[in-house]
Amino acid sequence: MNQLSDRINSLSTSATLAMAAKARELREQGKNIIGLSLGEPDFNTPDFVKAAAKDAIDQNYNSYTPVDGYGELKDAIITKFKRDNALEFEKSQIVVSTGAKQSLYNIASVMLNEGDEVILPCPYWVSYSDIVKLNGGVPVEVKTSIDNDFKMTAEQLEAAITPKTKMIWYSSPCNPSGSVYSKAELRAIADVLQKYPNIFVVSDEIYEHINFVGGHCSMAQFDDMYNRTITVNGVSKAFAMTGWRIGYIGAPDWIARACNKIQGQITSGANCIAQRAVIAALEASPDKVKYMIDEFKERRQLILGLLSKIDGISCNEPEGAFYVFPDISSYFGKTLNGQTINNASEFAMYLLEHANVATVTGDAFGNPNCIRISYAASQEQIIEAVDRIKTALA
Ligand code: PMP
Ligand code: GLU
Repeated sequence: MNQLSDRINSLSTSATLAMAAKARELREQGKNIIGLSLGEPDFNTPDFVKAAAKDAIDQNYNSYTPVDGYGELKDAIITKFKRDNALEFEKSQIVVSTGAKQSLYNIASVMLNEGDEVILPCPYWVSYSDIVKLNGGVPVEVKTSIDNDFKMTAEQLEAAITPKTKMIWYSSPCNPSGSVYSKAELRAIADVLQKYPNIFVVSDEIYEHINFVGGHCSMAQFDDMYNRTITVNGVSKAFAMTGWRIGYIGAPDWIARACNKIQGQITSGANCIAQRAVIAALEASPDKVKYMIDEFKERRQLILGLLSKIDGISCNEPEGAFYVFPDISSYFGKTLNGQTINNASEFAMYLLEHANVATVTGDAFGNPNCIRISYAASQEQIIEAVDRIKTALA
């Protein structure tokens, strides 16, 4: 008998993590799987960050930390926001968490009441919709397509707003489409929101530095949006620190105080050693990690070029992050190797079984016509993976 709560029974498993686990399992069975499912840089954490962590251990950083983060880390975050985003925050507006994922969960739990609607431009990052649902919110998906680079227009936003709309959550650069909202596009969205002063925005900027076109814009930079925007960021992506689990927000102080309160009852402050290491990461110039961004850019060109040679796969040109999000719907209804492919999940499973390449179905991101391929893998692996995909689809 299933005695679990309705809440957990209605929750989906994270599709990105599930696919990564499946790939791991197949590898253990001796299969040569190329994993392009997980959004995780394949670089090592930079040495100067590792050195700061080692120092922290030697200096006996071992106690509980302040729930919302060390004061010195908050100072580093404040300086980072000023330096990179022209945003001014006080310490009371910053909360450090165990990954940006926890930052997002905190926000949902302190902002949403039962039935509150959260607008999610599709495709959205896999966990947004379940985090919203887990906290009583109702995700409202706004469909976009490859023709407008998977970005939500001001008109689409306006059409999705109802009296129940509480928030909008988006990432730019976007996981999974790689799309980057320009300042003008964000301004057009902010203009719509002028008519709806009670709608809040979550601007997830975790891929900020993995941007190949420059011109990162934060919603909170607009004076009229500052008091209702929660800026989420973290070190997992740009500093190759996924396992260190540090994310943070800059927010109106009443929201930050509430996030501090919930975190105090759930996890307490984030890991002490990781926080000390992140001080070093954020105080460094972003130039220190440019070698990774340059490499991601090369890989993007490589994978786009290779995929363009496969019939029936069409891609937008991602401007940031490390994913391509090809539309593969032309394969629906086709039979390959005796297997009929009806949807993106079956397509991704087909690639896993017949090409030994792990990707993630677009359904998980709110777009059933696409799959997500992470190119946070070596150029050799990318070449081999696309070659195998091409053969499996021939
Ligand atoms: N937001 C986006 C858009 C992401 O891709 C990720 C990846 N994990 C996160 C938030 C969460 O990052 P983390 O918890 O590792 O800081
Ligand atoms: N954000 C990464 C991804 O989208 C990591 C996996 C996860 O946290 O879901 O693949």
